[in-house]
Amino acid sequence: MTTPVVGVLALQGDVREHLIALASADALARPVRRPEELAEVDGLVIPGGESTTISKLAALFGLLEPLRARVRAGMPVYGTCAGMIMLADKILDPRSEQETVGGIDMIVRRNAFGRQNESFEAAVDIAGIEGAPVEGVFIRAPWVESVGASAEVLAEHEGHIVAVRQGNALATSFHPELTGDHRMHELFVGMVRENAAAGSL
Ligand code: GLN
Repeated sequence: MTTPVVGVLALQGDVREHLIALASADALARPVRRPEELAEVDGLVIPGGESTTISKLAALFGLLEPLRARVRAGMPVYGTCAGMIMLADKILDPRSEQETVGGIDMIVRRNAFGRQNESFEAAVDIAGIEGAPVEGVFIRAPWVESVGASAEVLAEHEGHIVAVRQGNALATSFHPELTGDHRMHELFVGMVRENAAAGSL
C-alpha cells in the first residue's frame, strides 16, 4: 500500500514533535491549517497545547465544521492531551464554554491531574501495544471521567482513564510525541492504513 498521508492540526501546540513521530512511524506527515489541507489527509493528529486556544483558532480558520464533518465520516483522528479534549463529546470545565470537535462519547475533565508544576511521567500499559509500558508524559493533563458504551478504555493511570478509542478516533491524556518511543504513533498510522485499505476495496 502507498504511504498514508497524516496531517497534524497546526494551529497551536507541539506540532513539530508529532510530525517527527509520524514520519518515524512511516507516514507522510504534514501540517494542516486550512480546510483545503484537511481535505488532502488520510488521518489527522490533534496535538497537545491549550485546548481553548486550539478551539478558538479552529473556529477562526473555518476548520471546526470541516473537522467535525471528517471525523463524523470516519477519518482516523488521534488527539493527545489538548487534542483529547478536542475529541470529547463533553468536557467538564466550569470556566469555559469552549467548543470541541467531538467524536468520542466521553466526558473529559481538563487539567484534572493538576497544574503545570504537577506535571509528571509514568509508565502506562496500553491495550493493543505489545512489550514494555509506554512512558506517558502528563503536562497539565486531562483525564476521562466516564465513557459511553461505544468507547473502549485502552489505559488507566491510578484509577483514571487516560487512553480511549472509539472506532477510528483515538485519544490519550499524555504526550507520546515527547519521547523517542513511537508505538502510539505506529498504532495510529496502522489505523489510518486499515481505513484507507477498507476505503479502496
Ligand atoms: N491543560 C491543557 C488544556 O486544557 C492541555 C495541556 C496539554 O495539552 N499539555 O488544553
